[in-house]
Amino acid sequence: MENSTPMMKQYHAIKSNYKDYILMYRLGDFYEMFFEDAVEASALLEITLTKRNAGNNQTAPLCGVPYHAVEGYIAKLVQKGRKVAICEQVEDPAMAKGIVKREVVRVVTPGTLVDPQMLDEKKNNYLVSVVMHEDAYAMAYTDITNGDIHIKSFLKDAFGGLVDSLIQLSAAEVIFYQAELGSILREMPVFSGSVFTEMPASTFTYATCAKRIAETYKVHTLESLGISGTNATVQVIGALLHYIFDTQKVQLVHFNQLIWDNDRDVMLLDKYTRSNLELTETLRNKDKKGSLLWILDQTGTSMGARLLKRWIEEPLLNQSAIENRLSAVEMLLEEKIIREELKLALKSIYDLERLTSKIVYGSANARDLLALKQSLSVLPLVKTLLESVEAAPMLRDINDRINGFDDLFGLLEEALVDEPPFTLREGGIFKETYHAELMGLRHIEQTGKDWLLAVESEEREKTGIRNLKIGFNKVFGYFIEISKGNVKLVPDNYIRKQTLSNCERYITEPLKQYEEKLLGSEDQMHKLEYQLFLTLLQDVERHILDLKETAHALAEADVLLSFASVSEKNNYVKPSFTQDQSISIENGRHPVVESLVASQCFIPNDAHLDMAENRLFIITGPNMAGKSTFLRQVALITLMGQIGCFVPAERAALALVDRIFTRVGASDDLAQGQSTFMVEMTELSHILRYATSKSLLILDEIGRGTSTYDGLSIAWSVVEYLSIGQSATPKTLFATHYHELTELEGRLNGVQNYYIAVEEVKEDILFLRKIKKGGVNKSFGIQVARLAGLPKRVISRAKEILLDLEAHDINKVHISVMNNVTEDTPVINDQQLSFFNEEESDILKELKMIDINSMTPMYSMNKLFEFVQRANKRKG
Ligand code: ADP
Repeated sequence: MENSTPMMKQYHAIKSNYKDYILMYRLGDFYEMFFEDAVEASALLEITLTKRNAGNNQTAPLCGVPYHAVEGYIAKLVQKGRKVAICEQVEDPAMAKGIVKREVVRVVTPGTLVDPQMLDEKKNNYLVSVVMHEDAYAMAYTDITNGDIHIKSFLKDAFGGLVDSLIQLSAAEVIFYQAELGSILREMPVFSGSVFTEMPASTFTYATCAKRIAETYKVHTLESLGISGTNATVQVIGALLHYIFDTQKVQLVHFNQLIWDNDRDVMLLDKYTRSNLELTETLRNKDKKGSLLWILDQTGTSMGARLLKRWIEEPLLNQSAIENRLSAVEMLLEEKIIREELKLALKSIYDLERLTSKIVYGSANARDLLALKQSLSVLPLVKTLLESVEAAPMLRDINDRINGFDDLFGLLEEALVDEPPFTLREGGIFKETYHAELMGLRHIEQTGKDWLLAVESEEREKTGIRNLKIGFNKVFGYFIEISKGNVKLVPDNYIRKQTLSNCERYITEPLKQYEEKLLGSEDQMHKLEYQLFLTLLQDVERHILDLKETAHALAEADVLLSFASVSEKNNYVKPSFTQDQSISIENGRHPVVESLVASQCFIPNDAHLDMAENRLFIITGPNMAGKSTFLRQVALITLMGQIGCFVPAERAALALVDRIFTRVGASDDLAQGQSTFMVEMTELSHILRYATSKSLLILDEIGRGTSTYDGLSIAWSVVEYLSIGQSATPKTLFATHYHELTELEGRLNGVQNYYIAVEEVKEDILFLRKIKKGGVNKSFGIQVARLAGLPKRVISRAKEILLDLEAHDINKVHISVMNNVTEDTPVINDQQLSFFNEEESDILKELKMIDINSMTPMYSMNKLFEFVQRANKRKG
């Protein structure tokens, strides 16, 4: 280090403050990365790794990217989970004495992205901070583009709750200071793709955090925010603000809301339920297509798309809030013309939330302000349209929260030209009427151009050179160009500047003077426009909180419109809510499956559950009959009702449930590294602990993950537990292969048997998809296997084995195995292939029954004779 070049010394000094980051160091037209950063970045970005002299006969690994393409490279590094620090030259190299001064001017991390190009427009990007105190945890999170901080604390089921929340948010980045907590989270396989950033403990000290919060929210005491007594909460909020401020280096003017998630009336959905119900992505491919979100998303704005995702993940618990949404949807459904006009209007509104965040974080350009202007121009129409549906209280509230922004629109309209450039320092942004000085300077520019034309024709006259022309380039400025043939006519006052192959270029004294004046005014104009732009940004910034509120309200309108459109398209109905926790769904459908099976083919089904005789359904039926679909459709209809959407049914009176739990037997959870059965049981124990009589349980083949008898016993005792539990007697749908469970109907309170009907047609089965009262005692597994295309030989052999198994007790017989079967082995009839020689097994049974002590010698001789005869007959 001591013998490093001065530049390398500077590099090391800066890098020492950004050890965790890839440091992009500005060198002329490039951002260079050195040493281990270079090795890593060259691999991640697929760019060439080279070397550079680092002094003292040493070389440093090096790679670089051109300055104009840097954003793309930053995005790539951040997407791959790295944090990047951008180090710029902060003085003019021409003025620098010695090495040019450099500083880190910006850092980009996965949780602090604000550039819309780097963000998924349909998803919030969450930055989270966490603190552990005694046996509880606190966390705060925000999408820094919208500036709302949510706070959550976990007391009961503390660690599990924290982990669930982090998964639910798909946190982009988590900051912490307690090494122990950090390393536990980091090592969990579910977080293998997340970024954890360890902060110094000083970031989390109470006093610093309290000060930072008071400054940001402009309050004297934290009491007015309702967080004064809760140290951990103050820590997580303060640290979050600190980190955002530190990475963005601007005042966080749009942070004005603290939201206590614990106080919000929303339903908690654990990760298994979310994924089993395929709320926002499919279980298998993690695709949006095929999820509930995919069906419901007809939003016209990205703000709406993000909010819809949140609403689906956070169903409401408060009946009047739900009914508010439902009646807004009903209103929009009835007012088709207004709905269509509103949708059209919303489509022309840009992502106001992310536009405002670009303004706050200082990265907005004139095009962004133009986009803002265009969005604002639609608001009066939106408001007028909403006025005509004000009978729905929620739509009235939304309209009240949308500001018309007449003044701001007027200002932007007055200021900006129709097509401003992306750059801010080369003018061309403002209308000249916007500012008197700008008008003066533009005038000079215009008269200058006229003057040039006049000079051109004057000089042509004077010299007699008809093709004389005045031109401009960056190196020589303005010049007079004369073709080679006319050089002899050039007057003495022309000064030659440049010789080209077919012409000569000259300047004259008046032209030079003019050039200075014109270029001076141009420079002045660019500077003025830049200043005007900064002032304009400040004017816009004064409206940030109103803009944020308007964006929220528009997003809500967008989601409600989306619900109305989807409800109309798919024939959904408005659900009502019962007071006695009963559920009555007539001709219900699965919202996703109905759209995936061929048109009109989905068979609807009823579901009538209550808190008395019909509380727990045991649902049997062969594989593929539609059990899972039925179970999920009841859960999804319930959930859709509670997010305020109409539901796929002919009529639905729903129970307002406190939670929905969904468990699927032995689902593969390899990512978690747990055995599937273990996962199944862990999930089950979680339900049995947290379900209440207001919950809805969906159990799909619980017990499947272990041996038949184990599984059956567990399933059986779970049904007993749910049926006779002291407090937890939730409504339950239990799909199972264990026909034995149907025995419980009539013996346990509230248990009812249902089956999904199939019809046997010769060798095949026909799926009727209709749920019926009663149980079945046949699985049709072999028929289903046949449908799946298993080889004939396997099917016929399986049938034989099944016959034998059904005739005997599986654990008490000796099973013979068919050896050496080839594809050519003929299919043999049942008799020959029987596993069990019936005669022999009967003899064995009889032998076992014989009490040898009570046999007379005569009787034993006769019996022996009979056995030998029977055996011989069999052989023959
Ligand atoms: P199970 O759980 O009984 O094995 P699923 O619920 O997985 O059966 O259903 C299997 C397939 O049958 C589904 O993917 C769907 O294509 C079809 N299906 C299920 N229910 C219906 C229905 N009510 N109407 C039409 N098709 C259905």
